[in-house]
Order: sequence, then structure tokens, then C-alpha cells
Amino acid sequence: MPNPALPMSRRSFLATGTAAVTLLHPFSARAQAGQAHLRIMETTDLHVHVFPYDYYADKPVDTVGLARTAAHIADIRAEATNSLLLDNGDFLQGNPMGDYIAYERGMKEGDMHPVITAMNAVGFDASTLGNHEFNYGLDFLLKSLDGADFPIVSANIARSEGSDPTKDATLIKPYVILDREVTDGAGETHPIRIGVIGFVPPQIMQWDARHLQGNVTTRDIVPTAAAYVPQMREEGADIIIALSHSGIGAAEPTDLLENASTALGTVDGIDAILTGHSHLVFPSPDYEGFAGVDLDKSTVHGTPAVMGGFWGSHLGVIDLMLERDGSEWRVVTHAVETRPISKRNEDRSVTALVESDRQVIDAAQDIHEATLEYIRRPVGKTAAPLYSYFALVADDPSVQIVSQAQEWYVAEMLKGTAYEGLPILSAAAPFKAGGRGGPEYYTDVPAGDVAIKNVADLYLYPNTVRAVKVTGAQVKDWLERSAGMFNQVEPGKADQVLLNPEFPSYNFDVIDGVTYQIDLSQPSKFGPKGEPLNAEAHRIVNLAYQGKPVTDDMEFVIATNNYRASGGGNFPGAGGDTIILEAPDTNRDVIVRYIVEQGTIDPKADANWSFKPLGGTSVLFDTGPAAEAYADKVQGLTIERAGDGEGGFARFRIDL
Ligand code: MN
Ligand code: MG
Repeated sequence: MPNPALPMSRRSFLATGTAAVTLLHPFSARAQAGQAHLRIMETTDLHVHVFPYDYYADKPVDTVGLARTAAHIADIRAEATNSLLLDNGDFLQGNPMGDYIAYERGMKEGDMHPVITAMNAVGFDASTLGNHEFNYGLDFLLKSLDGADFPIVSANIARSEGSDPTKDATLIKPYVILDREVTDGAGETHPIRIGVIGFVPPQIMQWDARHLQGNVTTRDIVPTAAAYVPQMREEGADIIIALSHSGIGAAEPTDLLENASTALGTVDGIDAILTGHSHLVFPSPDYEGFAGVDLDKSTVHGTPAVMGGFWGSHLGVIDLMLERDGSEWRVVTHAVETRPISKRNEDRSVTALVESDRQVIDAAQDIHEATLEYIRRPVGKTAAPLYSYFALVADDPSVQIVSQAQEWYVAEMLKGTAYEGLPILSAAAPFKAGGRGGPEYYTDVPAGDVAIKNVADLYLYPNTVRAVKVTGAQVKDWLERSAGMFNQVEPGKADQVLLNPEFPSYNFDVIDGVTYQIDLSQPSKFGPKGEPLNAEAHRIVNLAYQGKPVTDDMEFVIATNNYRASGGGNFPGAGGDTIILEAPDTNRDVIVRYIVEQGTIDPKADANWSFKPLGGTSVLFDTGPAAEAYADKVQGLTIERAGDGEGGFARFRIDL
């Protein structure tokens, strides 16, 4: 405990102005003699976010950073009699600072990883491993952990398995028992033994197969916990805290359960569960109605639980009131809260709620500066310019690169699974394509060097990769849904308006890996929100895979993102029930990795889709004025300037 001698503040922790406060029994009352108030603080899913900085946008932000979370930690330490700070994993990967260390500077024997340096500066009592700790390989991971001043535990990853989990040769320590002292309500100190055990989703064997297969194995979280907890009690743990790098999911354990934190509540002997992995906040309305979850009490199967957001966005806090029972401690009551570092105002602006902790900033300042240099420096080259000015009217290089990276990644992920060998298609939409964003709101990366910060221009949202398994009929309807982007045109008529302004460009999925044409003379099968409009209509014609017509019963995998795969935009074949891969990586990270590994990318649009020719028909299309420079390079389209559109847009005429 950092401050065992401090008296408990009169102010207590009711007067903190928190976002989500759950007070089962108010701790405003002092602990009695023989009772001790223990505050357990959690950070989770830091993903190398030490500085309050968005390296993709190359600008400071108030929404992320351990430097900010550390201010809450300092406050709690100042006011609490007894406190403990734990991290729940996913600290080593997930922003350009992490990539800089992994891809550029490296981790040699004795090197410090900046997130570990920062965590040492804050002073953690223990941590566990998240799934992303394995992204750069075991050697990188173990060298990084070497620098930690605090124990790091994980119970369900083994070098070799024994007859039960407790007999495994685990990769790192499965648990620790921290010998601490707590001060009770009468000001007396007592020894306490706090057991801390950690868990990772067993899916790391699939997600990081190339690093892990043949080197380690994983076990399911709940049975591993059930095996170890009695042993920890046996060794004298008074209380046990589970660091569960796993979300709040199904109430009961099942094989290979990824989000096992609710089910973990069924294991006897665990006093508090720190959760994460889902990048959400618990308690919060996101978990309304979840089986096994009591949101008012912030418990899973009666065990106190918390999830402190991600990237340092919140500090999770579980307060336990402990009572001495003979020579042992037991939990008599609890409270849970999460303290945000920023708040979003009604006008969407953000207000910081805390200032950066100077010590944390200082600890990583040099690597922060090296990272800035790294994101502004080329990491690869593109042979073709990447722009989205014509992404809604022709196959387009800025969409093509996203598709290629997704396809590359999904093919790797499906190796060795039942889906290996199925044709992999890739769906991507132009996110920045004018519209309400205005005439400058386009992706525009010139040919030549590509810097990390350009990748944000190519992929705007922090989505994660998904793959779905669909039929040929669903591929066709997916494209019919996309083709709702366009107004129906009358053949033989000149200068008709092409785009439906109610249709956002992010719902215009282009599917790579098949070839097709869009017949604009036909009505759209679906409306702007995906609602069925004309059941019999079809605009998609000549749909082919490797030159052969796509039939309804063919099977395909489509690489896409979590938004689309789980029903975003209401696409046929993408209602959440067709998902075969929930990848842990963001599409943006996948694009960075693709560029770094390829060195030079050549994302020339392959013109796999076009409008069906309609002789004597023309349409008008508005795009950014900077499009002029590329108008003669558009594939499979006759296009000319046709004056100015409204609001600063340039107008073009397309002869169909
Ligand atoms: Mn994470
Ligand atoms: Mg293409």
C-alpha cells in the first residue's frame, strides 16, 4: 500500500463527481475498529496510450493517456487509507508508439518499453497480460516485461500442460500473493495477503497463431480459475482479485469462452473481478439486461466487478470494506465506480477533467518525440496516388488498399481453420467522400512515401476486422444494398443527378474479388437505410468470380469490419449471424502492418466494378475541386468537367 499511514479523508470518495457511481452501502462512514477500507484501482486496455495524444491525427487530445488517468490515481492515493493499483492488460500494442518500438527501435536485452517505464513511474502493484501482448511475438513480450517493477501474472497460458491447470508450466507466474498491511478504522495496522491472478482470452492461439503455435497453449478461463483459487487460499490469500482481460459476456462458462468475466463470477473464492478487453465501461447501460449481471450493485454472480474503459479513458475503482474475522479478512460490503478523464459536451466538444501527471509525461517524453518523428516519416511507399474523389463512381485506389490489407489479413487468420480455402472477398467503403463533410472532405495521399499518419486518412474509424461467411445470393444482395447510393436514371436522357444525398458514403461497400456492373436504369432493391423497396428489382449485373457467374449457392468469405458484420447499415448477409472471425486488430493497424510488411504497395484500382453502359445517357456528379487533377485517370468511365456544383463542389458529367 502506498500510503498506509494516511488517515481516511473526511471528504471520503463521495465527493468526487464521477460518471458512474454505484454505492451499495455508503463508505462515507469510517471503517470501524477491526474493519479496513481497501480501494482497488484498475487501468485496462491502455494500448501504449501514455500521452494524451492522437498520433494518427498528429494532435493532442483529452480523451486518452495514462498521464491523465494517473491524476485520478494520485487523488485516490491521497484520500484512501489503503489502496492497490492493478492493470488488466493490453498495454504493449495499439498505437504508433507501440509500433515504433516494435518495428523501428526494437527491444534488445535491457531495453525499456515506454509503457512499462510509464507504469513504473505511476507505481503499479500488479498487472496481467491481454491478448495484444502477443502481437509482436513472445521474445518481444518477455523482454518488455523484464523492465516492470511490479509482478505480471497470467494463469491460462502454458509452455507445457500438466494433468490440471495448477500442474502447468505457465509462461509467466500464474498468480502472486502480495504481502501488505492495511490500516483499520481504529488506526491500527494489520497484515493482509492479497492474491492476484490473471487471465487472457484463450483465442490468442488463433489470433497470434504465427507467434504462439508450437510455443504455448491456452486453457479456458473459468476452469483455470476454479483450479487455482483453492490453492491460493491454501497459501494464505485473505482476499483474491482476478485480473480478467476478458469482457462481460455469457453468464455460464462454455468451451473457448472469449468474454468470460461474468462466468468467472461463478467461481467461489474470488472477491473482486477487474474486467476489460471489450473497451467499454462497467457498470454502464451497455450492460443492461445481461444475465448474471447486477448493474445496481455492479456485480457478476454477486462478485464486485469493474471495467475502466480503454486507452486510459477511465480509472475503475472497486471499494471493499474488509472485516477481520479471527485471523482472516472477509469482505462485508463493496462499492464500484469509474472515473472518466474527460467528458463530451452537448456540442460534441471535449472537456478534460484532469491534468497530465508530470512524472508520467517525463518518463516517456523522449519516446513520445521519437514517435512523432516516426509517424511523420515514411514507412512505405505507394506506387499510385490514394484519393477518393471518384470513389463513388468508379473503382478506386483509396478503397482498394483497404480491401487488399483486409484480404491479406483475413487469409492469414483463417489459415488452419475450417474456412481455409473458401474464396475471400473484401468489402470496403469510402469513408471520406465529400457529402456533408464538404468539398475538402476526401482522402488524398499522393504517390510516393506513405507515413503512418496518412493511414488515418485512409481509414477514419477505429473499427476492428471481421470476416463473414455468405452465399452467392448474399453477395449479390450486399451489392444491391450498396447500389442504393444512386438515383434511378432514365436511359437516353442527359445530365441526370447521380447520387442520392440521403445515402452516406460509408454504406457504399465495394466488394473486391468479384467483378460486377451496376445498371442504373433499374430501381434500387433497398432504401437508404437498407429497408426493402423493390423485392424484384436488381441493379447488379454480370456478377462473376474468376470469370464465372456467381450462383446463389456459392460460398464466400467477406473481409469487413465489426460495424458492418454486426448489422451496421443493415446489409444482407451481415446481421451478426454470419461472423466467422472476430479479429482483435483494428482495420487501421492492419493497413499499417500491410504497408510495413509490403514495403511498396501498389493499390491501383483494378476496375472490378463499373456502371453498365447506357448509350446516350449522362449523369452529373459533384466531388471536390482537387479531383480535376485525376479526372483523366478514372478507370472504365468517360468523365468531363461540367461546371461548379453547390457549396464549393466541382461538377462532372459521366457518359454512361
Ligand atoms: Mn484491448
Ligand atoms: Mg477493386
